[in-house]
Amino acid sequence: MIKIAHLIGGESASSADARIGPVFNPATGEQTAELELAGRATVENAIMRAEAAFAEWSARTPINRARIMFAYKELMQANMDELAVLVSREHGKTIADAKGSITRGIEIIEFACGIPQLLKGEFSSNVGTGVDSFNLRQPLGVCAGITPFNFPAMVPLWMYPVALACGNTFILKPSEKTPSCPLRMAELAHEAGVPKDVLQVVNGDKEAVDTLLQDDRVKAVSFVGSTPIAEYIYRTGTANNKRVQALGGAKNHMIVMPDADIPQVTDALIGSAFGSAGERCMAISVAVCVGEETANNVRDAVSQAASKLHVGPYTDNDSDFGPLSNQAHMTKVLSYIDTGVSEGADLVTDGRNLKLQGYEDGYFVGPCVFDNVTPDMTIYKEEIFGPVLGIVRSNSYADALSLVDEHELGNGAALFTNDGGVSRHFVEQSKIGMVGVNVPIPVPVAYHSFGGWKRSLFGDHHMHGPEGIRFYTKLKTATVAWPGGKQTGPEFSIPTLS
Ligand code: NAD
Repeated sequence: MIKIAHLIGGESASSADARIGPVFNPATGEQTAELELAGRATVENAIMRAEAAFAEWSARTPINRARIMFAYKELMQANMDELAVLVSREHGKTIADAKGSITRGIEIIEFACGIPQLLKGEFSSNVGTGVDSFNLRQPLGVCAGITPFNFPAMVPLWMYPVALACGNTFILKPSEKTPSCPLRMAELAHEAGVPKDVLQVVNGDKEAVDTLLQDDRVKAVSFVGSTPIAEYIYRTGTANNKRVQALGGAKNHMIVMPDADIPQVTDALIGSAFGSAGERCMAISVAVCVGEETANNVRDAVSQAASKLHVGPYTDNDSDFGPLSNQAHMTKVLSYIDTGVSEGADLVTDGRNLKLQGYEDGYFVGPCVFDNVTPDMTIYKEEIFGPVLGIVRSNSYADALSLVDEHELGNGAALFTNDGGVSRHFVEQSKIGMVGVNVPIPVPVAYHSFGGWKRSLFGDHHMHGPEGIRFYTKLKTATVAWPGGKQTGPEFSIPTLS
């Protein structure tokens, strides 16, 4: 059995205080590795190294760090095939999907290559006679990232390329379900020139996370995961005086207007609801159809298309999507589907009894489509994070938008229409962090920022893009006068510099 430990000081060192957790291949249900779950002493060793490495790394010129990011981007691209297999083997998603997510992550490294430009401050000459003022963005110190199982490459890459380029050191605590790709990506960063103590990976669970949250030497924590844990991370981290950005769960709606093109809507719903088995924080899980005719058309087209999807392992190139990532999660998704039936929704496509020959122990659930879902139902209120789409019928655009706005989660939402006025109203007025018009998964590109509203994000900063730079730096403003001005004597009222 493969043993997986950590990457501390560039070494895959085992530690005396570790507990062991299993890693599975979700397509077969087989255990593929034993993972070390770090205890407090192991995490503190990584923090000590990261703190010691900060002075040298933060003193480097931004162009030096940018050149390392260029080298890192090249290495990531060159090793794409290997990284994609590591993602798919532990998560279950298809190779094409894994490569897409790695590509989106590499785009953040490309963004970080622009760090000399991104760290440029503002300068005001002569704010008083002979006095200039300017600002600097300075790194925070040791930063930590805690990431979920569903994007083992992309979500860590939302964080550490930006943090490192700003001059911080970084400790990544990836999901204990998908540890291999994050470890390999960190090795590649070292190969590109990131010093060994500047980027480290600690595997573990709550004990490792709590150590990071409680240690004064950790200055900032970035988290992505479920809403209850995001809230816990935010409250504990800020109570310990850290800067925290904690992204939580999602229940993304797509409003379908009567003028929308049904074949286009169908493709969009099928891809966004069932891609990656629905295990995406930007998956569409609710289609709000305006008008009975729209709802009937969407139901018929989507249920027909869903029944033709090919569910299978990542090793089968024809698979549209793979298994759920672990057994406990599969059990939870199946129980949500049962609850939907018992609460009165119409299960028009039932993927519960999917059995694949040769993969009987895999965590496969086929596509499920519910019609006549209502806002009081559990399957409407809660995030399922599986291949389950609910259709809600609505009388008007205004009613549909109220549903979007009143849901406690506000990660993403989409509108499908040809009406410019409705589209503009939706973009301007919806209470959602990331919106799409005729785009089902409106994930912002690297040089914009990613983040939801309401209980989908705790904290003030979204990830990567300009918000990433703001999160990983402190602002300093300097007011500078050089000798040459005339002596005026002490001033006892607040200086006006006139
Ligand atoms: P999770 O919250 O269970 O775990 C996320 C991380 O937190 C993992 O590293 C885990 O080890 C750690 N963790 C778990 N329980 C903990 C505890 N009690 N104390 C401290 N740390 C703990 O999430 P998951 O199941 O890995 O991922 C799925 C969730 O992530 C979904 O809710 C999904 O919507 C969300 N997600 C959100 C985004 C976003 O951008 N908003 C992106 C991807 C995933």
